[in-house]
Amino acid sequence: MKFGTKAIHAGVEPDPTTGAIMTPIYQTSTYVQRSPGDHKGYEYSRTHNPTRTQLQNALAALENGKHGLCFASGMAAIDAVVKLLSPGDEVISTNDLYGGTYRIFTKIFQNYGIKFHFISMADIANVEKYVNENTKLLWVETPTNPLLNIIDIKGAAAIAKKHNLKLVVDNTFSTPYLQTPLDLGADIVMHSLTKYMGGHSDVVMGALIVKDDELHEKLAFIQNASGGTPGPQDCFLLLRGLKTLHLRMQRHCENGRKVAEYLKAHPKVEKVFWPGFEDHNNHAIAKSQMNDFGGMISFVLKGDKMEDAVKVLEKVKYFALAESLGGVESLCGHPASMTHASIPREERLKAGLSDSLIRLSVGVEDAEDLIEDLKQAIG
Ligand SMILES: *Cc1c(COP(=O)(O)O)cnc(C)c1O
Repeated sequence: MKFGTKAIHAGVEPDPTTGAIMTPIYQTSTYVQRSPGDHKGYEYSRTHNPTRTQLQNALAALENGKHGLCFASGMAAIDAVVKLLSPGDEVISTNDLYGGTYRIFTKIFQNYGIKFHFISMADIANVEKYVNENTKLLWVETPTNPLLNIIDIKGAAAIAKKHNLKLVVDNTFSTPYLQTPLDLGADIVMHSLTKYMGGHSDVVMGALIVKDDELHEKLAFIQNASGGTPGPQDCFLLLRGLKTLHLRMQRHCENGRKVAEYLKAHPKVEKVFWPGFEDHNNHAIAKSQMNDFGGMISFVLKGDKMEDAVKVLEKVKYFALAESLGGVESLCGHPASMTHASIPREERLKAGLSDSLIRLSVGVEDAEDLIEDLKQAIG
């Protein structure tokens, strides 16, 4: 089955009791049993809910996995993965990481005796230097935020296999439309469904997708024991969003390319970060593991002045100044004063996060309008 057909049909069946083609919102906490223990597979909605089951099946199908698990947010999904570990275990993570992931690793799980190494994975061979007998997990995000670095998933999987580590890939920026990490050897795919998967900026949710039965059992145990599960109404909205994932992503990619090329040619723009450019340092890897290059773009203005970036962000009309990404509407942000404001300036600059860096989540509007908007804003 091809991807678009899957987005609409896979994992989802008409409701068995009524034939409703769209999965109903099973707004119930509990389920009646005929006799103690004699039930229809549903006992309590933290553990299972029919709306959530359909969504989990759809996600598993889209990522070419076997099992999906949904959580109340992307962070709750990450929380569940780290709970596979015990004190003394070590994690090797990419250093260009979603801020919330860095926060939960360093401010929560470090206190429980888990050690994290944050390293550059631009050259994946670098990972081996940090592997020791306590290493259990390899954490990869690609493309990264906001510098759009690309990490070699196959290379990471080879290292994970050699040292018996679990490889987790945060696939939020790519979605399975662009890349399916389980096919490249990853053990766990993690999603903030809040972004492209939901796609309409109206739900916060997360997911994990795996192939392995035993790993699924462990994660399902944690999901139920810790209880960070989403409600059925949100699951319904996510299911609805997924049905147009391929259409939305196609347009995000088309618009992304047009906007990236426009910015690259602009005399007031110093540098554009987008993995689709041939001079991107890991373009070859991006090309080999992704079907297209997505709608996330960052750029730096000539002169690198914060006030110039602020002016652009105040002037744009269609690009809404807001946190988050991946919705149908275009968004823009200023990492230095928004998402990455807590990082000292020196460190920010060292990591390549300039004062005038602007991040765009290019939406699915008409590209001509978006370019016109950037034109009047950048001047
Ligand atoms: C948003 C995001 C998360 C966290 O997800 P929430 O749904 O906000 O909890 C994790 N990773 C990436 C790459 C994200 O963009």
